Amino acid sequence: MSTVAKTMPRPMPAVTPPREDLNPYRISQMQFDIAAEYLKLDTGLRQVLRTPKRILEVSIPVKMDNGQVKVFTGYRVQHNIARGPAKGGVRYHPSVSLDEVKALAAWMAWKTATVNIPFGGGKGGVICDPKRMSKAELERLTRRYTSEILPIIGPDCDIPAPDVYTDAQVMAWMMDTYSMTTGHTVLGVVTGKPIAMGGSPGRHEATARGVLYAIEEACKVKRINLRGASVAIQGFGNAGSIAARLLLERKAKIIALSDSRGGVHNPRGLDPLKAMRFKERTGSIVGMPGGSRISNEDLLSLKCDILIPAALENVITLENAEQVQAKIVAEAANGPSTPRADEVLARKGVFLLPDILANAGGVTVSYFEWVQNHYSYSWTESEVNAKLGEVMRRAFFDVLEISKKYHVHMRTAAYILAVGRVADATLVRGLFP
Ligand code: GLU
Repeated sequence: MSTVAKTMPRPMPAVTPPREDLNPYRISQMQFDIAAEYLKLDTGLRQVLRTPKRILEVSIPVKMDNGQVKVFTGYRVQHNIARGPAKGGVRYHPSVSLDEVKALAAWMAWKTATVNIPFGGGKGGVICDPKRMSKAELERLTRRYTSEILPIIGPDCDIPAPDVYTDAQVMAWMMDTYSMTTGHTVLGVVTGKPIAMGGSPGRHEATARGVLYAIEEACKVKRINLRGASVAIQGFGNAGSIAARLLLERKAKIIALSDSRGGVHNPRGLDPLKAMRFKERTGSIVGMPGGSRISNEDLLSLKCDILIPAALENVITLENAEQVQAKIVAEAANGPSTPRADEVLARKGVFLLPDILANAGGVTVSYFEWVQNHYSYSWTESEVNAKLGEVMRRAFFDVLEISKKYHVHMRTAAYILAVGRVADATLVRGLFP
């Protein structure tokens, strides 16, 4: 009887393809590092600029409507204040995390530098689901969050504003809480306030209007006629819904829209005003007449001239970038495309309008609001829009010029411009002590 030495089959070494790192904070650092390399920044300066200056984590106890107390977690991060006070929104969302807020704060620092307004960058966030909270609960959450971050905010040091699922009403509560604590009304502590109380005409539409101005210039570069151009928009919040309306006014054709529950598609065009009314009535644009249902994922790969991601981070990744068929991608959201996706889009010849340029209209008009508050003086909406147009066009051409000079895509060009400006400010100020 011969025995054949039986060897156990060796387990195959697991070959998992290297996965893309989707941590927003590390992504923001990768984007920074690329620019730092082009700018040949020294190691010490790189360390200063790539990490947040100040991080505050707070517990926010809130009495819920059912009488029970629930404790929420919130953050305020100041990334850099070399060029002026920290500036940036506050986000209320269940998926908020410290790394997300750190990334968003860094992006604000590069954004204010790209459009050359005298601010640094900051961001706040609270882990909560505002869709499942009453207005009274949201007010108590906002007031307590404001009082917890009060030691580090103020009109000269850090100025919050609206972001995902926060609005002018939330800003009014923040401003009131701050003012009640200091004992006098401080309009300039937040921006994006209601017009009735220190808000600026044009601020509500500013992010979308800035996206529109950037798209107009990109269309000239790509020789696309905006009139009749097809547009797909992911996200139907402040930026996405108003961008849809403004683009329709310019006679573009909105072929797809979506919100967090899904989307609608009609290659012959949709009416964003009807979508707004439908969403007001039903809570979502899903199921609105005049289009067929489409998923958020499929919307990104539609054949169109202009794609506007206007929702959250990491929607265009290595996994789906190849399927993007748009000629222009205009990032109304913060962080919608990953660095690996950027490479794919660039290879495909897609013209990218990066977030820190494309959506900078919001913070630009926030700056105008803050200036008006300081001067106790009010500009008209057409003055605001004209000034916004100047800032956006100047920034677009500054970035375009760098992209040609260094042969890089528009994101890296914007980072070279922005990081260069913050680095210059840091160097002339010198190191304390
Ligand atoms: N949250 C907006 C942004 O991400 C606006 C920030 C501001 O106005 O300060 O740019």
